[in-house]
Amino acid sequence: MLIGHQPKEFLLSVEALTVSFDGFKAVNDLSFYVEENEIRVIIGPNGAGKTTVLDLICGKTKATSGSIQFRGQELTRLKENQIVQAGVGRKFQTPSIYDDLTVFENLEISFPRGRTVFGALTFTRDAVVRDRVHEVAEMIFLKDRLNVNAELLSHGQKQWLEIGMLLIQDPELLMLDEPVAGMSVSERAKTAELLNRIIKDRSVLVIEHDMKFVEDIAHKVTVLHQGQILSEGTMEHVQKDPKVIEVYLGH
Ligand code: ADP
Ligand code: MG
Repeated sequence: MLIGHQPKEFLLSVEALTVSFDGFKAVNDLSFYVEENEIRVIIGPNGAGKTTVLDLICGKTKATSGSIQFRGQELTRLKENQIVQAGVGRKFQTPSIYDDLTVFENLEISFPRGRTVFGALTFTRDAVVRDRVHEVAEMIFLKDRLNVNAELLSHGQKQWLEIGMLLIQDPELLMLDEPVAGMSVSERAKTAELLNRIIKDRSVLVIEHDMKFVEDIAHKVTVLHQGQILSEGTMEHVQKDPKVIEVYLGH
């Protein structure tokens, strides 16, 4: 028996992932592994393939070859909605909230349908949903804004609301594409605090350019370049890597 030598369980295992657009490999034989309760940040120059990696994981783009294992399921064989049900939530670069609904209503409609709690009693379900909305609103710094129309929120608050709309579905993997772009310094710091809190129950995969923010959140950084890994490790490690400085950080 090899007690203490069990292979490590990864939440997400991406192996030899490739996608080719008319012969151009935007993601080229890429392998990386995300642990439970990990915040992984993907950085790299524009066009490196970062967004495409998220598109592949959430099923928006079909892989040409390779594998994406999540909790024992092969995501490359699933449709987008099945991947959401498997526990993967993804936030796009532009917020997709309902401007004319309140913060409360935006969160309420994002509560997973068909997730029956304590049987079919409507009032019980309503209470469960309400409690969860309040819990998430507190997490995303919007508990004093519940009755405000979403269109009246600041840009940063809109981003938080969208994160909340994903959190209310309780994903095991949350993917965010440049979440702090356009945020103020204090909003960035609060977003870092938010992510550091929510990984108690999940893992987060983030694409980001703001190095101060990356430093505040990353357990590990994966540097992408031309669809492949240029460097990977702690922030300290990749920041010192001459290849990373040449291709990305030096600019
Ligand atoms: P990043 O997010 O790192 O800036 P992307 O993943 O958006 O980079 O893009 C990587 C490369 O793949 C770019 O050259 C982009 O033009 C190309 N690309 C992305 N999606 C498609 C697509 N659906 N069809 C063709 N080319 C694409
Ligand atoms: Mg991108």
